Amino acid sequence: RFVSFEGGEGAGKSTQIKILADRLEAEGKRVIVTREPGGSPGAEIIRHVVLSGMGKLLGPEAETLLFAAARDDHVHAVIAPALEQGIWVLCDRFSDSTRAYQGRLGHVSPELLNAMERVTIGRLKPDLTVILDIPVSIGMRRAAARRGNDVPDRFEAEGIAFHQGLRDAFRQIAADEPQRCVLIDANADPKIVSNNIWGVLRR
Ligand code: C5P
Repeated sequence: RFVSFEGGEGAGKSTQIKILADRLEAEGKRVIVTREPGGSPGAEIIRHVVLSGMGKLLGPEAETLLFAAARDDHVHAVIAPALEQGIWVLCDRFSDSTRAYQGRLGHVSPELLNAMERVTIGRLKPDLTVILDIPVSIGMRRAAARRGNDVPDRFEAEGIAFHQGLRDAFRQIAADEPQRCVLIDANADPKIVSNNIWGVLRR
């Protein structure tokens, strides 16, 4: 089974992925946790390029193609082989992040995004996408607290309008694809959030 986690900054994706992985393993399932951009050695190099200031030297389409190159390697080197062996794959961000960040916020055309998805993902869509939803001000506060003295990456450094657009984009995706996506209120105790996710998975 393939489960992706999506959401804005500070929504608690990594915490929830960890809890879910532990729960699945406690039930005897084999699980891998991975992330995008990155998740395979080659794709992690691209992650470094796009999240550092270097990505800004590229136009939005060129940058989006880099995200696609990273995904292609990640899917073929890590995700598909794991799924073939019956291993659960929990992925921190996947194609919905591309739709939200590069599509909705970066104004990259749906035609390019669709073409990229055909090449990189093909039919390997997540069985379930958990979209963690949190008010922007709270998410940004959480992300800043987690970061401490570290410099924010390019996207974290964006203003409130950017993050509001991101939240809207994810909510829209959840509304458009209710059979694959579930919108989870992430503005609650992590334990409650994880129980809600577990309930969805059980169903
Ligand atoms: O998951 P996390 O918040 O650590 O994501 C890493 C960064 O990559 C984020 O700042 C996110 O905004 C950015 N990102 C992006 N486009 C994607 C996926 C992630 O800009 N398709």
